[in-house]
Amino acid sequence: MLKYIFKMIFSPRIFLIFVTAILIFATVPHVRAAENSADVSFGDWLKVFRVDAAKAGISAKTLEAALNNLEPIPRVIELDRRQPEFTLTFRDYMDRLVNAKRVTKGRKMLAENRKILEQVAARYGVRPQYLMAFWGLETDFGRLASGYFPVIGALATLAHDGRRSAFFRKQLIDALKILDAGHIDLARMKGSWAGAMGHFQFIPTTFSANAIDFDGDGKRDIWTNKSDAMASAGNFLKNMGWKADEIWGREVKLPKDFDFNLVSLKGRKPLARWQALGVRRTDGRDLPKVEMQASLVAPAGHAGPAFLVYGNFRAIMRWNQSQFYALAIGHLADRLLGQGPLTTLGPRDEKSLSFVQSEDLQQRLIDAGFDPGPPDGIIGSQTRLAIREFQKSVGLIPDGHPTLAVLKRLQKGAK
Ligand code: CA
Repeated sequence: MLKYIFKMIFSPRIFLIFVTAILIFATVPHVRAAENSADVSFGDWLKVFRVDAAKAGISAKTLEAALNNLEPIPRVIELDRRQPEFTLTFRDYMDRLVNAKRVTKGRKMLAENRKILEQVAARYGVRPQYLMAFWGLETDFGRLASGYFPVIGALATLAHDGRRSAFFRKQLIDALKILDAGHIDLARMKGSWAGAMGHFQFIPTTFSANAIDFDGDGKRDIWTNKSDAMASAGNFLKNMGWKADEIWGREVKLPKDFDFNLVSLKGRKPLARWQALGVRRTDGRDLPKVEMQASLVAPAGHAGPAFLVYGNFRAIMRWNQSQFYALAIGHLADRLLGQGPLTTLGPRDEKSLSFVQSEDLQQRLIDAGFDPGPPDGIIGSQTRLAIREFQKSVGLIPDGHPTLAVLKRLQKGAK
């Protein structure tokens, strides 16, 4: 009997199952339990990930090429942890992204790429100036398209790291699928530290859902093939709800004593309603007499520019959630067609609050009985609403804009 068991254990097939079982029991449950934490070594994490990637249908050949000898990239973690001390004011943001140099280069690029841009516009309904604006902001018209970080290494680093594991794990799976399908080879699959790739900085899941092989060579090459890249961007915007026959919005002039409670991306009103409220084009003319829903935004507070924004503005914000970004895209697109600068970018001497000042502002709002959300130093929509309530309570213009003046007023009130 003993001999039989001994024989069974050491028959090669049974032995293999036995060893595999020990390995699984010894490593996998432990790794699984702590999967989203950096407590598990990168190597152990990668073993588990590799099994899941194989289950997701990625070929052994691709897994071998991409994951054998893979090492985490410390610089990626550094960049992910970086906390900017100051955020940019609207003025600084626009000066940086939509300056004279970018407008000049963009107009040249618009002319040079006219043919492919017209083809993409005809197919996806996104006009050339908008594609050029995205191209300019994402990679300075392709100059930065080839990327610096190996995408697999960067994504594996972030997927192993605890902060946003689930998100980056999904990106890593999709990145491996892209390799597996042969759209790009491993050595050329480069991108940003967070895995944004090619001319328009698509993350892998964006690639999976939107990338297009426009020239029909069988590869969706968003890294080096401009027509594939531009068609992919056009298709992405179309999928985000882009309307071919609409603009993004426009800068407007507000009447004196305008009610800043109406400034909100959430509230939508017909253009006729905004007209009745005294909102005009910047040159004083009436708003267009068309049936469109619009929201009013004022990114630099009551002393800065105001904009009426339409559905395409929301499509831009589905590409990148930042309101500043969406305004920069819309404005750059207008500039490429020859429109002039905005009437104002907000106060010239305004400094944005530092991280520490923002935290202080939030804490003081809480102390004064308002609800800005957790005091994390990040001014989001909830903090803006709380600022607005505070401004109303002390008779300031309720624009919800975080300024040093508001912070000083709160500091004074607490004393
Ligand atoms: Ca292609």
